[in-house]
Amino acid sequence: MYLYNSATHKKEEFKTHTPGRVEMYTCGPTVYHFAHIGNLRSYIMEDVLEKYLRFAGYDVNRVMNITDVGHLSSDADTGEDKMLKGAKRENKTVMDIAKFYTDAFFDDCRKLNIKTPDVVQPATGCIDEYIKIISKLVDTGYAYLAGGNVYFDSSKLERYYIFNDHDEEDLAVGVREGVEEDSNKRNKNDFVLWFTKSKFEDQALKWDSPWGVGYPGWHIECSGISMKYNGEYLDLHCGGVDNAFPHHTNEIAQSESYLGHPWCPHWFHVHHLNDPAGKMSKSKGEFLTVSLLEEKGYDPLAYRWFCLQSHYRKTLVFSWENLDNAAAAYTKLLNRIAALKPEGDVDTAVFDEYREKFLQQVGNDLNTSMAVTAVFDALKAKTNDATKLAIIGEFDKVLSMSLLEKAAALREKAAQAVQSGGGDYVITGEGDPEIDAKVLARYEAKKARNFAEADRIRDELKAQGIEVTDVKGGASWKRI
Ligand code: AMP
Ligand code: ZN
Repeated sequence: MYLYNSATHKKEEFKTHTPGRVEMYTCGPTVYHFAHIGNLRSYIMEDVLEKYLRFAGYDVNRVMNITDVGHLSSDADTGEDKMLKGAKRENKTVMDIAKFYTDAFFDDCRKLNIKTPDVVQPATGCIDEYIKIISKLVDTGYAYLAGGNVYFDSSKLERYYIFNDHDEEDLAVGVREGVEEDSNKRNKNDFVLWFTKSKFEDQALKWDSPWGVGYPGWHIECSGISMKYNGEYLDLHCGGVDNAFPHHTNEIAQSESYLGHPWCPHWFHVHHLNDPAGKMSKSKGEFLTVSLLEEKGYDPLAYRWFCLQSHYRKTLVFSWENLDNAAAAYTKLLNRIAALKPEGDVDTAVFDEYREKFLQQVGNDLNTSMAVTAVFDALKAKTNDATKLAIIGEFDKVLSMSLLEKAAALREKAAQAVQSGGGDYVITGEGDPEIDAKVLARYEAKKARNFAEADRIRDELKAQGIEVTDVKGGASWKRI
């Protein structure tokens, strides 16, 4: 696979420390609020990447943290603790907030067909790991104590700006929210490894440490959790583009200083989903969630389809119109798949040819829009329906759009509509499930007020020599 690497600023052949095995790490959510659909864009694209790697034959060990401590409202270690902010907002304990929003995150993931990583580790569960790393950093002179906190000394590094070789001003691009000065820092880019005397008197979660009772900084959790579950050599680290600086930069600084060797060669960053008014942000409090999409009648997978249509390294602008288009395209695709007859033998030569092409095309920097196109190409392939279905099922191992399951459900629904007699919509015709499925799809489109799609299906049927007549409680069709 060829993948763009943010650390080298170019597309490279993806290689792993142990051939055939990928140690993969993903920065997980900060669980003080619901994930917004922008956050979920990052998790969808990372999910596709993981599934592609498995599809390509790799054995993948994917690890993700859950940030339930230490993430302050500014990434530069200042402001309020996000978890505490959430707890105050809802008048609950930090642990209640963490549990509630962790569960909500995985509910959203399930609805979007995002696989749960092999290891999911809340940050509060690995305090000993962080203390071990910080202790060594203090002993070797990479970290210092000031004002009660332990800081990483960025001046000890030959190269700190991993993701940006330009000047410091450019770094502002990657910074998330407002930055305040911390007078304890010896250098502007030093960052907190462990907080003790913090300004948060009401900090709920505190642990004993060699530097006093306190809690870890945000960055150390990902280094500690990754080293625990991925080992000392990580192959691939993922996150949204805002994580690149300072979070990932700091992860590299502390991990390599601790390990004494390079840590992770490949960095994958997903660009943002913005709403037309600007960046979508959890801390602003107003944002779009999967539940909101559902309330408005969208299948969450229509949102996944919307994300797959564009490249992960391009900013994606959300609009209802764009989502409507994706939803209509997805419905249309499902109807076309439902119209395929699952009969006959799979032509393995054709199957292999399509699989290989997909592997090559999608393996070019995770080209998901090519993966989408590949499904339509499979529908047009000069082969039988059974082969087309097998190819589409194979592609869906990466796309995870439930294509075969949803198409089968549509086919089943059409069959029931024909048989039901007393059901809501009865189709009478000449006993062809493919035509029944299309007639039902036309009805569903009309019901959803998607008249363009309903007309398109009617025209398609007409081109096949089928005439559909709407009758009370259903439709009847005949060949003309
Ligand atoms: P957080 O819960 O704030 O720690 O963010 C979870 C993940 O979502 C991180 O990988 C962020 O980089 C990513 N992220 C944050 N905002 C966006 C956005 N608007 N679009 C895409 N990804 C985002
Ligand atoms: Zn992280």
